[in-house]
Amino acid sequence: MSRSLNVAVIGAGVAGLCAARELKTQGHRVTIFEKANQIGGTWAYDTRVESDPLSLDPTREIVHGSLYRSLRTNLPRHLMGFLDYPFEKRPNGDSRTFPAHREVLCFLTKFANEFGLVELVRFNSEIVRVERVGERNDEWLVESITRGCDSVSGEVFEAVVVCSGNFVEPQIPVLVGIEKWRRYQIHSHNYRVPEQFRGQCF
Ligand SMILES: Cc1cc2nc3c(=O)[nH]c(=O)nc-3n(C[C@H](O)[C@H](O)[C@H](O)COP(=O)(O)OP(=O)(O)OC[C@H]3O[C@@H](n4cnc5c(N)ncnc54)[C@H](O)[C@@H]3O)c2cc1C
Repeated sequence: MSRSLNVAVIGAGVAGLCAARELKTQGHRVTIFEKANQIGGTWAYDTRVESDPLSLDPTREIVHGSLYRSLRTNLPRHLMGFLDYPFEKRPNGDSRTFPAHREVLCFLTKFANEFGLVELVRFNSEIVRVERVGERNDEWLVESITRGCDSVSGEVFEAVVVCSGNFVEPQIPVLVGIEKWRRYQIHSHNYRVPEQFRGQCF
């Protein structure tokens, strides 16, 4: 490695943790900004849903997670591990080939602990703006808001890795004739448990 850089990683999901581990291994100084209060991103199951079941209301409070309570992986565990860090069965864990979501979170937590990544994370810290700065335009001003504080604070980094996820904004498909359906519509982003549909027939 030629020089140790001061790097900001945005997001402590799978991508952010992997990026941080590689950067740390290469001797860079890493700060991970995570707007939630835990690591795992998508795999940190969140019981909350958005106020608008189709997520069309621009004023709604955004919920990051899309997992439903009973979700199991749709890839076999041996494809979800990392080349040098397999997604192994845990003693007393969910040993199925397609395990439940909490098993993925356990895997990521173990990964983050073993590689000393948790101490790099600044939790409850949401990045609101990134701008190129510096005399040679080769640095980045990274602005964040810490939960509970209104003020924005800015720090300069030599590199930024954006790992903020790509499933937060639901895609609503165009369905011919959907306007004729006058009953309940929900995007899977806002589905968690089946109880609310009990006894209904469509
Ligand atoms: C329902 C569902 C099921 C899936 N099932 C599988 C599966 O079985 N197998 C598989 O391999 N993949 C699956 N995926 C794909 C999944 O997206 C990836 O496994 C992986 O979680 C993506 O990781 P990521 O780090 O890119 O994003 P995320 O996991 O979304 O993490 C992004 C992180 O960035 C944080 N963040 C976002 N914006 C900011 C900000 N401005 N400031 C600070 N922090 C921020 C978020 O809080 C979050 O922690 C599934 C996805 C979904 C939605």
